[in-house]
Formats: sequence, C-alpha cells, structure tokens
Amino acid sequence: MQEALDSWNMLPVPIPARSRLHSIEPIGVGTPFVESLTGYMIRLAASHAVRVSDLIEHELRTGVPYYHVPAGISNAINGVREGAQNWVSAVERFTLRDNLRFLTLLPFESVLDTASLMRPERAWCPHCYESSAAQGQEVYEQLIWCLQCVEICPLHRVSLETSCPACHRELRPICAVSRSGFCSRCRQWLGTARGSTPEVLATEYQVWVAQEFGRLLAIAPDVKSVGKENIRKVLVYYVDSFSDGNRIATAEMAGCRRSSFLNWCTGATIGRIGPMLRACYNLKIPLTSLVTGAISGLEATVAVKTVIEARHQRGIAPNRPADQIRAALLLALKEQPAPSIREVAQRLGYSTPTRLYIADSDLCKGIVRNFNKSGRNHWWRRRGAKLLDDSIILKTLEESLSLAMPIPLHRSALSLGYQTEDPLRARFPDLCRAIKAKRAEVWAVRRNTLPVELEAALNEEPPPTLEQVAHRLGYSSDSSICDREPHLCAKLAARRREFAEQSRKKLSRGSSGVSSGTRESEGPHRRNRSKLWG
Ligand SMILES: [Zn+2]
Ligand SMILES: [Zn+2]
Repeated sequence: MQEALDSWNMLPVPIPARSRLHSIEPIGVGTPFVESLTGYMIRLAASHAVRVSDLIEHELRTGVPYYHVPAGISNAINGVREGAQNWVSAVERFTLRDNLRFLTLLPFESVLDTASLMRPERAWCPHCYESSAAQGQEVYEQLIWCLQCVEICPLHRVSLETSCPACHRELRPICAVSRSGFCSRCRQWLGTARGSTPEVLATEYQVWVAQEFGRLLAIAPDVKSVGKENIRKVLVYYVDSFSDGNRIATAEMAGCRRSSFLNWCTGATIGRIGPMLRACYNLKIPLTSLVTGAISGLEATVAVKTVIEARHQRGIAPNRPADQIRAALLLALKEQPAPSIREVAQRLGYSTPTRLYIADSDLCKGIVRNFNKSGRNHWWRRRGAKLLDDSIILKTLEESLSLAMPIPLHRSALSLGYQTEDPLRARFPDLCRAIKAKRAEVWAVRRNTLPVELEAALNEEPPPTLEQVAHRLGYSSDSSICDREPHLCAKLAARRREFAEQSRKKLSRGSSGVSSGTRESEGPHRRNRSKLWG
C-alpha cells in the first residue's frame, strides 16, 4: 500500500504552450507529395471555418512585414525568397509548428534561387484530388504543382491542369475564398479530369523532371548542407571521371551553353533552372546528387563514353583546366622513381608536354630536374643497355598500317619509348613510308569528300553544326573544314542560324520546357559562327 501511494506524482502536470491557431499537421512532409504553404493556409482557414481572407487579414498579416491582400499573394511564398521565410515564420508562430519550411523550397534556397522557378497560376492534378477524396483522405494542394518546370503529376503522369474545367478560367494560388480541390471562382470540384481533352502522353523528360523534383522534396527534412559548392563538386567529379576533364565536350553532351556549364563548374552562377535541368537529364545526374553533392552512384552516359572514345581514337588532346594539370604536376614532382615530363603528359592524355608547360613551367622544370637526377634519363647510352627488340617495333608498325587510318609515326615512336620517329625510320624505312603514304591517301579522300558532305549536310533537317560535320569526317575541329571550304561552311552556318531562330520562335509561341535544350545546344555554335561569318 505504502509503495502504491509513493508512486503517485503530486507535481503539477506541465501543460504545453497553447497555439493561437489550430496546430494542424502538415500533410506529406518527407514525401514527393508534400503540401504547399499556401495549401496549408487554405486548410487552416477551413479548420477554423473562416474564409482565407479573414484568416490572413485578422491574424496572419500581423506576422509579416509586408502585407498583401490574399489575391496578391503568389506562389513565391512557397518558394525560396524572403517572402517565403516571412510567411513560414508567421504561420509557425500562430500554430506553434516548427516544420513548415518543408512546405516551401526554403531547404534548397541556396541552389534554387533562380528565375522562373514558381508558376504564377494555380496548378493541380485532378486525379490526385479524386483519389484523395475517394479514399476518404483530406484533399490538399501539393508543393510540386507550384513549380514552373514540373508539367505533369509524378504519380499519375498526366499534365497538370491550370484552368477550371467548368468556368475555363485560370485560378490564383490563393485567394479570399480558396478551398482545397475546388475552383475559387465558380466553386466547382476540380477533381474531374477534362473529358474532352485528349490525354497527351508525357515525354520521358517531363517524367524525369517531375520524379526528380519529387525525390528532392522527399529528402528536404533530412538534407544537411545544400549549396552551389555541391553543384560544382558533382560536375567537376563528373568531368574528371568520365570525360577526361574535358568540360567543353561535357557541355556539348549536356546540351547547354559552354559558358553556363563553366559557370556551374566554378560555382559562380546558376542562371535559369531550365538549362541546368536539361543538362542533368542528358548527363543522367540525379537532382538529389547535384544538390547534396553525393557522387557515389554517378556514371557516364553512353553518349559521353562514345564521344570521349571517339576523341581518343582521333588523338584529340583532352581540354583540362590549368589547376587540374598543376595538381597532377605537383603529385608527379614528389613521385619516386621520378617520371619524365613526357610520361606525365601521356598520363594526362597529351602526346607532348606543351600544355603542361603552359599550365606551370616551373613545376615542369622541377620534374625534368628530378628525372635527370634519377639516372633514368638516356638509359640507352649506358653500358649494357639493351636495345628495343626489332620484332616489337615491326609488330607496332604493321598493326598501325593495317588500320583504316594508321597511327602517326611520331605517336608510335612515343608509345615505344622513343622521343622522335628517327629510330623507326632507320630500321624500317619502307614500312614508315607506307604508313605515311596511307595516311596521306586517307586525308586526300577526306578532302575530296568534304564538299559533297557539306552539300549533303545543307539538305539535312535539322541542319547539323559545322562541328558535327567536322567530327563525322574525322577532323578534330570545325576550323579545319572552314579553312578548306569557306563558302559552303558559311552557307551551312547561315542555315543553322535560321533553324535556331525558327526553333526559338516556336519555343516562345508554345513555351515548353521540353525543347528548351535544343535552344541551349544552339548556343555555342551559333555564337562562334556569328563571330566567324558575321
Ligand atoms: Zn496526380
Ligand atoms: Zn471554375
């Protein structure tokens, strides 16, 4: 008995603080279908059985520094800017909730602060409304519907609606008499898909964008550090790991302007969200990796692999930034046994050390000094040094000759460890002459077919870029073909410009995020050519 009486706690029970407004639970936090802040405010008004305008004018307006009538509140308060922060703080203060920032894009403000992020009008998926109502769940407005670049529902894969099927008018994200799932103008239920509109199949890109943003919203409560630094880290890792450090080639594969891609790689600016989404889609970089800086699981797309392999086969030197070369030089400087400067160059994909000297001549000189001191230099002059077996040289040269385009002699010499091609000429003069002759022949054929190829390219739809024609013919850059056929190249460049102009007009008429990549991919070619051809 004594024990039972002792177990009674006579201390006063702590009563949690009371909130001024109902502290209703936000729906779907930590899922792709999380509610929007405007949607939460609409449900909050319904929970108090008052109009949205009454809730805002009599209560919430006191918590925000700049007040607008409900109809003046845009989707921006679901976004990343100051307005969103002010409204989140106000609603949190009145409801005593601490997780309402996940109903906006504030967790990603440092990376998503870009133009045209939020759509100006209200959008919704009628099937989502319908299924919530059918399952007896609360109908609510989703945050993902507020994003301008999301055009379809990630769950039902149908286009989001932006006008009421009954009164055919566009609706504001929030207004005086908003109700979840209903038209704020004619009060009709919006959960009925338009019967007369034929179902348009969502494109792969639209599905990707919707699903990626869904995943992004789902990780919002767990995400720790978000910043442009992560974008830089992921892109630099991608370029270094999968495309030989070649940022220009990666930008081409990504289908974006070179300048934009270089800006993202340096962490400078992001610009508009559309081109970045298109680039991630083309490179198959998940949006969540880009934002969180997670590099595990990234892999090169087939297109990137093909381009890089083709560049290797054509012997095109990779386009590495100076700081990357300098880092490799610093490592080589400490290496034991000391490597030669040519070995370092070859490891980085260059046949000569010229680019290494351009990046940092002092470090290069240090590597040369170390190599000379190591005694590995001029090994063939030493007593007892073995000469390279003739059969190895013969095999290399014969293999080269059997190729459709034999390898240049100087490169074969380098691969065998010679500095020049002279030792090969001295031992196998006929084979070397045959290789030279075959290469000259292939080049002659390429030169002769160039006008024919350019004429054919002029009739292609869409017209290819000069760079594409150059690559098809095995030239490393378009400047080589422009030097040989200036008139035809100018014609093709003009056609390409015309095509780009038409695409742009089409885009501005029926603006759709789907084809924005085409316009972006025009960028570098159009700009370069206009410099060349006025
Ligand atoms: Zn849906
Ligand atoms: Zn209506």
